[in-house]
Amino acid sequence: MIFEQIETGNMQNFSYIVGDEKTKEAAIIDAGWEPERLVKAAEKHGLKVKKILLTHTHFDHVNSLAKLHKLTGAEIFVHEEGARELEGKGIPMKALNDGDEVKIGKVKAKVIYAPGHSPSNVCYLIENKLITGDTLFVENIGRIDLPGASPEDMYESLQKLKKLPDNIKVYPGHDYGSKKNSTIGYEKKHNPFMKASRQEFFQ
Ligand SMILES: [Zn+2]
Repeated sequence: MIFEQIETGNMQNFSYIVGDEKTKEAAIIDAGWEPERLVKAAEKHGLKVKKILLTHTHFDHVNSLAKLHKLTGAEIFVHEEGARELEGKGIPMKALNDGDEVKIGKVKAKVIYAPGHSPSNVCYLIENKLITGDTLFVENIGRIDLPGASPEDMYESLQKLKKLPDNIKVYPGHDYGSKKNSTIGYEKKHNPFMKASRQEFFQ
């Protein structure tokens, strides 16, 4: 698998290039900023962007979606809650649900529904890498005080992620931590929200 983490824009957003080195098919995960740069990065690996996967629908993750779709003609995938939110933008989308699998060539991205930060948040498990969007950051989590957020859902989503093996790598939606990626094991040790008991979480 070809994999690259790219920081774009002024809000420390990460986008990701995921490619199959055999079929040369690629997906871009999250379409916040600098669409031309993302396409160029894929091309540099000899890849053609066939799919765009969204972690959720906040503007800093979808701002470049129309442009990126125009540049690549790629199919767009988003959780069904997000597909509903983005309806009317005139861009066709495929609605995802928990447990779905999106194929990027022969590489499989498994959808883990992880709401809380917003109703449309998903994580993508791709081999040993978990793309966590704004659900889980390095040593932190996404905001749960915005409209549409649900602390209860976030707590449940984190319990779900905690069940993944410790060696799964965590690739967040923003560069907010002391490093650009970590592991589930590291987060279970160092992330106060992952460590918190139910009572502590809701204090
Ligand atoms: Zn967000």
